[in-house]
Amino acid sequence: MPSCARLIRSACLRLAVALVPALAGLPAPAQTGDKPAIGPAVAIGADLASQGGTTRLTLTLSRPVEARGFVMERPDRAVIDLPEVNFQLESGTGSRRDGLVQSFRYGLFAPGRSRIVIDLGAPATIGRIETVTRPRDGAVLLTVPLQRADREAFRKAAATADPAPAQARSTPPEPADQRPLIMVDAGHGGTDPGAIAVGGVFEKDIVFGFAQALVEKLEAGGRYRVRMTRDRDVFVPLADRVRLAREARADLFVSIHADSISAAPQVRGATIYTNSEKATDVESAKLAERENRADAAAGVDAAEAPPDIADILQELTLRETRGFSSGFARTLMGQLSPVMEMSGKPHREARFVVLRSPDVPSVLVELGYLSSKHDLEMLQSPEWRAGVTGSMAKAIDLFFTNRATLSRPAPTRRSAAVAPVLP
Ligand SMILES: [Zn+2]
Repeated sequence: MPSCARLIRSACLRLAVALVPALAGLPAPAQTGDKPAIGPAVAIGADLASQGGTTRLTLTLSRPVEARGFVMERPDRAVIDLPEVNFQLESGTGSRRDGLVQSFRYGLFAPGRSRIVIDLGAPATIGRIETVTRPRDGAVLLTVPLQRADREAFRKAAATADPAPAQARSTPPEPADQRPLIMVDAGHGGTDPGAIAVGGVFEKDIVFGFAQALVEKLEAGGRYRVRMTRDRDVFVPLADRVRLAREARADLFVSIHADSISAAPQVRGATIYTNSEKATDVESAKLAERENRADAAAGVDAAEAPPDIADILQELTLRETRGFSSGFARTLMGQLSPVMEMSGKPHREARFVVLRSPDVPSVLVELGYLSSKHDLEMLQSPEWRAGVTGSMAKAIDLFFTNRATLSRPAPTRRSAAVAPVLP
C-alpha cells in the first residue's frame, strides 16, 4: 500500500518536526504533548482502498488497539469503537470518498473511548477487523473491511448489532482509576544488600524504609495509584523492575538508593540521576556501573541490553520520555534543595539499567552516602525522612500538575477540524 507508506513517513516527519523545537530547549517537558506510548495510541494515517464489493479502511497506528464494529440504519453507517486514540490525521482525511465509504468522522467519543463513524454510500456489513504489524517500522495497521450487502442483510445486521455499545452509551461502565501510577523502586533487596555502612547497616534496608514512607505519603494524598517494585526484603532483577513499571504502564518511576564511597567519607549529599548513554562524569559512570552490578551480586545474569530503537515513533517516545525524566529531576531538585543537603552537582546522567524504560519517565535518587557518618545518621532519622518524602510528594504533584495543564490541548489545527463524533 504505497500511499499508506508515504503517509506514515510524512506524518512521522511532521510529528518529528513539531517535537524537535520543544525538545531542543526542554524548557518544560510537558510541552511536548501527550506521551504516545503511555497515553493513547497515535493514529497517523487512514487509507481507503476498494476492490470488488469490498472497501477497506486501514488505520496506521503507533501500537495495537482493540476495535469492534457495528452498523446502523437511517442513515446507513458503520461504527468502529476503539479505546482512546490520538488522531493525528491530515485535515480532510475523513472527507475522502472511496467505494462504499462516502465520508467518515473520528474523535473522542467518551472519556477513554474513541470512535470512527463511517457514512455508507450503500448497505454494507463489517467483516473481520484485522491487525498486523508492519515489520519495516513496527507500525500497526488496523483494517476494517466493509462488504457490500443487500438491504435485507444490512437491516438484519443493524438490528442484531452487538448491543454492548448501545448499553455502554446509556449506562457507562464504572470508569477505570485514571489517577497517575507512581512506581516506587526500593533499590537492592534479598541476596543483594547494596552498599554496606561502617556499622553494618545495609543500603537495601535504608532505602526500603524510605520507599515505604514515600508510598504512605503519596497514598495519603489520594492523587495517585502507587506501587512498589518490591514490597519486602526480596531480590528483584533490574530488568524486572523496568518490566514491572512498563507492564503496569506507570506514569513515573522513582528509584531510591543510598550509595557508599569508602574512599571518600567526606563526600555527602543527594544526587538525582536520569538515564543517558553518556555519563555526566567519571564518578556517575562508576556509580551506575556499581548499581548495575546488582543482578550479578545476587547471582543472576546481568540484564540484557535494550533493543535497538529503529522506529521513529519509538524514537520520539524515547526522546519525549527523556524530556519528562529530566523535567521531573529538575522539579525534584527544586523541592529537595531546601530540605536536604544536595551534592555538588545534584542532577547527573549515567547509564543505569533500571532507568531504561523507553516510555516511563524515570529517575534514580541517591539519597546520600552511607560512607558519610553525617548522611547515615540523617538517613535513619524519622524526622528527616518525613521532611524529604513530603518534598518528593510535592515535586510529584508539581510534575503532574504541569503536565496536565501544559499537555492538554489547545486543539491543534488538525484535531480541531474534527467535529463531535456522534452516530
Ligand atoms: Zn544502590
